Amino acid sequence: MEIELRLSLEKKEVPDLSNLPFGKIFTPHMFLMNYDEKKGWHSPRIVPFSYLELHPAAIVLHYAQTIFEGLKAYAGVDGKIRLFRPWDNIARLNRSAERMCIPKVDSELALKAIKTLIWIDRDWIPKERGSSLYIRPFIFGTEGALGVKPSSEYLFVIILSPVKSYYEEGFNPISIYVTDTYVRAFPGGTGDVKAGGNYAASLKAQEEAKNLGYTQILWLDGIERRYVEEVGTMNIFFYFEDELATPELSGSILPGITRDSVLKLANFLGLKVRERRISIEEVLEGAKSGYLKECFGTGTAAVISPVGKIFYKGEEVLINNGQTGPLSRKLFDYLTGLQYGEREDPFGWTMILENPL
Ligand SMILES: *Cc1c(COP(=O)(O)O)cnc(C)c1O
Repeated sequence: MEIELRLSLEKKEVPDLSNLPFGKIFTPHMFLMNYDEKKGWHSPRIVPFSYLELHPAAIVLHYAQTIFEGLKAYAGVDGKIRLFRPWDNIARLNRSAERMCIPKVDSELALKAIKTLIWIDRDWIPKERGSSLYIRPFIFGTEGALGVKPSSEYLFVIILSPVKSYYEEGFNPISIYVTDTYVRAFPGGTGDVKAGGNYAASLKAQEEAKNLGYTQILWLDGIERRYVEEVGTMNIFFYFEDELATPELSGSILPGITRDSVLKLANFLGLKVRERRISIEEVLEGAKSGYLKECFGTGTAAVISPVGKIFYKGEEVLINNGQTGPLSRKLFDYLTGLQYGEREDPFGWTMILENPL
């Protein structure tokens, strides 16, 4: 399928990209593609960025039949534009689609859509090291019908937002609040896919953590409320004396691409890595005894987010004295080095954007 280009007639001036509020500025174009039962996915097109028109009974507005992805394009130190494992985001989008009864999209076409849209709006990629162009593909049910059932019509949209470095104020550790009131996910639920409803359901806990002065919420498993699962919307790693460990993909954890990259990179760097169950007691005792040396979250937005402080059941415990540890820094430098083209990529994770038109 050819992507139709209906570009904006006037050239929009690129604003100052050095001081950007996260996710509030968008590039001049967006990608759209429709689905209906007769035609399947059809009419892929790039059009001027605008509001969308929706039926008030659109399934997504009532029953949250919606999925999304998040990835970035980076302006390299060599002037080239790079994407990081974009095919993995598309594969995950289709896994999310499967879970939410949304028809899958053609992977080749989705990648071409991302590449073409970025190419058209490439002047909007901030050049400063650490900043990037955030790419948000999403699909949702648009059929106007109040019955609870999979929508018969969908819209696939891709929008782009230039974002500044996550670490404007330095690579500083965050504090996390362990909730045993709320759960994010449970076996058989939708925690392992990027479905919109997961995030609506997490807001309350996140707000309570914020009100108590913590940056993020740490989620425990939904059954025993004992095993660590994720931190905010990131995966979590623990650097114990003898291994780098992360919770195993139990079905209620989102399989992060950064998580997978860290596992492979740490292994490549000669560390012992393990995916296993990690209890909150092990973490707290480890932090106190020093057996736990570092803790960090992983995700596309921050890449590596060091954790310096954990609150659980009335007790606050520091990790590595509340400081960013050397492994967190090393992994961060390595991964961002690949993304900005400063380092050879022995993994084949980066894709240089060539003119797709
Ligand atoms: C997106 C996401 C992550 C991180 O995934 P990446 O592919 O590394 O960006 C982790 N947990 C949740 C809940 C997420 O939504």
